[in-house]
Amino acid sequence: MRHTSTSMAAVAIRNNETQIQELDLPELSVDDGLLKVEMVGMCGTDVGNYSHITRPTILGHHVVGHIEKIGELAAERWGVKEGDRVAMEEYLPCGTCEHCREGLFRACKFTDSRRGGMRYGNTALDIKPGLWGGFSQYMYLHPNAVVHKMPTHVPAAEAVFTLPLANGFEWMCLEAGVGIGKTVVVLGPGQQGMACVLAAKAAGAQVIVVGRQTSVQRLALCQRLGADAVVNTTIEDPIERIAQITGGKLADVVIDVTSGGTELVTQSFAMVKSRGLVILAAYKYAKVLEWDSDLVLSKSITVKGLRGHSYGAVEMAIQCISAGRFPISILHSHNFGLLDVDSALRTAAGTGEPNPLLVSVSPWQ
Ligand SMILES: [Zn+2]
Ligand SMILES: [Zn+2]
Repeated sequence: MRHTSTSMAAVAIRNNETQIQELDLPELSVDDGLLKVEMVGMCGTDVGNYSHITRPTILGHHVVGHIEKIGELAAERWGVKEGDRVAMEEYLPCGTCEHCREGLFRACKFTDSRRGGMRYGNTALDIKPGLWGGFSQYMYLHPNAVVHKMPTHVPAAEAVFTLPLANGFEWMCLEAGVGIGKTVVVLGPGQQGMACVLAAKAAGAQVIVVGRQTSVQRLALCQRLGADAVVNTTIEDPIERIAQITGGKLADVVIDVTSGGTELVTQSFAMVKSRGLVILAAYKYAKVLEWDSDLVLSKSITVKGLRGHSYGAVEMAIQCISAGRFPISILHSHNFGLLDVDSALRTAAGTGEPNPLLVSVSPWQ
């Protein structure tokens, strides 16, 4: 198979600087393929990576698109054909280590970028064939890529929420086992917090979201997504309010998805009931200096660190979005074309257009 055409791509060439480049499409073999990118959702990881560029890289890894070309073996293994619509996982796992055998691709050392592993949206352009990110008209489908079919009726602006929502299902349903009769407190009404709200509501739990006055619009959105109560920490004491809302029972599960700020970690031990679960799912980049280990012991609290999603959680997210049960489109705040990827990254970082939530890029615009 020989292609003579090229792909326009937005390449992060150094910190906070993007250059539009025309890149050759790769020659394909029997076990790989090429994706025509439809839309890409911006992730907090893209924003973080944009200020830590060591080698030119195409960012963007919450990718939805159509199979443009595919080798015979890859088509058979993934169960897709040319023209099919798919959602991609960010991971490029080895597929054979003990973690991959359990579907825990995020634990595979070949997906860990801090150890030289490869992921979509975080692999340098000089590693052939270079098209490793979604901010490009085409993306390379590596033989180890993890591909999920995406129904054609799902609006692209909702389809790009698949991976954040998969994290919500992973943490809330597969890890915490929430359901009817359980109360979940979500600390932080960002993209990830809203995914937890949706997953916990899909499972039938009572959901309380905690945020500051600066997030008051996001707290209101959480209520439109189904949250039963919201707590504004600028005007209310969160521990007192949660005790009040739950009739003194407190929460079965508290999940912290706020990056930075360690105070909530300590507070979460007071918000959770005896034998409850506290989930830490956002990096703080700081140490929690004063935490009451005796309280953890006396209440028999389980503290669990979680990141990423399994294959099954992505399937749950796709099924949830496809069913159209929740107004997921209200999360979508901004869409940019390929030439404006820099603005898209700045907007997602909070330094561009106002009130960002789910920011997306359409590379053919
Ligand atoms: Zn991501
Ligand atoms: Zn592996």
